[in-house]
Amino acid sequence: MKLKHLSTGDLLRSAVKEKTELGRKACAYMQKGELVPDELMVDLIEDQIGKKDAAPGFLSDGFPRTVVQAQKLDQMLQRQGQKVDLAIKFDLPDQVIFKRLSGRLVCPSCNSNYNIYYSPPGRDLLCDNCGSKLVKREDDQEEVVKNRIAVYRRQTEPVEEYYRSQKKLFPMDAEVAAEELFRQIQKIVSAHSSSRSLN
Ligand code: AMP
Repeated sequence: MKLKHLSTGDLLRSAVKEKTELGRKACAYMQKGELVPDELMVDLIEDQIGKKDAAPGFLSDGFPRTVVQAQKLDQMLQRQGQKVDLAIKFDLPDQVIFKRLSGRLVCPSCNSNYNIYYSPPGRDLLCDNCGSKLVKREDDQEEVVKNRIAVYRRQTEPVEEYYRSQKKLFPMDAEVAAEELFRQIQKIVSAHSSSRSLN
């Protein structure tokens, strides 16, 4: 859809891997499943949305996760003459979230995702796409996943109301098949995006 995919989790994980100053500061929070402080996140996202490839529009994956982040995002976008078009929320029962995260395996080479319960790889622990050895994210350990769900309820759930009151919140049943969910998202994004170049 010609939208830049901006994942704060991916950006933080590469900062940790590259041992940058941000990575060193964020690492301990991420390992525990806690949120990285707002000031660090706002600086990170401000850098990214100022880049040329974000100008036609971007899909923000994992940001904002607090009301403060949502407010700062609005202010940053306003300065650039942009705005948040819509906020998509994936609705899932906690026990499904738990299995999706604790059962997830990722390919470190091509980023493909698998799940030992729902979509296991064809060959044991090897990526179907490129053959690399699959890994489990450190924060997908069961105890950390439980904390991430609790942190969501405590710190991120209030963001729903922030967008609901602006009539921008789109809750989606995320238990349907991935292809079906994708079709529904495409429809909503096409209908509500302020960028005219989407197909
Ligand atoms: P994710 O890949 O989106 O699940 O993010 C992985 C981890 O990165 C989270 O559990 C947080 O520790 C951190 N993180 C990612 N995005 C944010 C954010 N917007 N605010 C605070 N921490 C974040």
